[in-house]
Amino acid sequence: MKRLLFLLGIVIVLNSCERNAITGRSQLSLVSDGDLTSMALVQYKDFLTKNKVVPSGSKDADMVKRVGNKVAEAVKKYYSDKGFPNALDNYKWEFNLVDSKEINAWCMPGGKVVVYTGLLPVTQNETALAIVLGHEITHAVVGHGKERMSQELAAQGLGALGGAALGADTKAVDIFNTVYGVGANYGALLPNSRKQELEADHFGLIFAAAAGYNPQTAVDFWTRMAAQGNGQKPPAFLSDHPSDEQRIQKIREFMPEAVSYYHPK
Ligand SMILES: [Zn+2]
Repeated sequence: MKRLLFLLGIVIVLNSCERNAITGRSQLSLVSDGDLTSMALVQYKDFLTKNKVVPSGSKDADMVKRVGNKVAEAVKKYYSDKGFPNALDNYKWEFNLVDSKEINAWCMPGGKVVVYTGLLPVTQNETALAIVLGHEITHAVVGHGKERMSQELAAQGLGALGGAALGADTKAVDIFNTVYGVGANYGALLPNSRKQELEADHFGLIFAAAAGYNPQTAVDFWTRMAAQGNGQKPPAFLSDHPSDEQRIQKIREFMPEAVSYYHPK
């Protein structure tokens, strides 16, 4: 029986790759977008009730919403221009600022975004915030979380779970929250691969630029971000990232394309 399950597992994995519309890369996909979006709705609400949300009307919370919505609009337009006008129909964008010292931000599938107040002294301005949001939104829209979640579900023999069973499985929920950067209940962090990080930098720059933010700011911002790790443990959301030098060098390579999307009004 074990052997049969194992073979079944292999068949499921082999039949479950899909090519990403935007990156062109083939990704393991054991969870449906619908299931992921449902999980995200539940986990996002749960997170917001357990953490201190900075209310609308405060300068920083409004900035997060303003910048976030601009980047989200640019992402929508990018997909539409590439011939996928409905690709993000299940995205109902929400941007919340949460009071926490952590230098962190994340985006769940369906467009549920959180920025931690601890990030703002590092971003220092709206343009750098747009760079971070472009990066985090890319992880979600090009399915990096879905890919990592699928890999982990497969590794845990949970690849066949779907629908309500997935949302009700504590282990699957822990994997979800760990993958999306909410917390690491599930043992170690499940880091993005270097390939995923570079994709997030690449498209994140384009999205920020298309939203009207100068992508060249990214070099200064990532340099500031790199300095955060000096002499101590780097911020959690950096620990999984490529080396600072490699990132900044790649960002310079992506720059001409990103700048071509930048048309300040
Ligand atoms: Zn990242």
